[in-house]
Amino acid sequence: MKLLLTFSRRGQHDSGREPVIARVVKETGVLINVEKANIDSMAGEVLIDVPDSDADLVRQRLAEMGVAVRVMENAIALDEAECVDCGACISVCPQEVFSFDEEWRLQVSGERCVLCGKCILACPHSALSQQG
Ligand code: SF4
Ligand code: SF4
Repeated sequence: MKLLLTFSRRGQHDSGREPVIARVVKETGVLINVEKANIDSMAGEVLIDVPDSDADLVRQRLAEMGVAVRVMENAIALDEAECVDCGACISVCPQEVFSFDEEWRLQVSGERCVLCGKCILACPHSALSQQG
């Protein structure tokens, strides 16, 4: 399961200055895969992947450390009315989120998305967006 973590780095004691992910791994023994990280001097946003069976435990510990956690089950939203099944998103996606079914209709497996944004830029019909 993918979890999007956000935290502030504004104060000396904020979670953004603590090794929260390493701490959760050490405490719980759950192996956390970091898929994307945007961290600057003010704030951080980190996308992690954890086994479904451990997700509640990881979410709980991160929340206790002051990290906002959002479950990203369908990170990419498809507007089916706008999609023309051109396949441009299939070409650019590094995670094979998109595919065609037997009738050449676009299928989306959003659980594999790492929020790189390439498909959103590539879609000629603005049919894709990141779930807020
Ligand atoms: S945001 Fe990136 S990983 Fe996610 S579906 Fe689009 S191209 Fe694939
Ligand atoms: S790029 Fe856009 S229009 Fe083309 S198949 Fe993907 S979502 Fe549909």
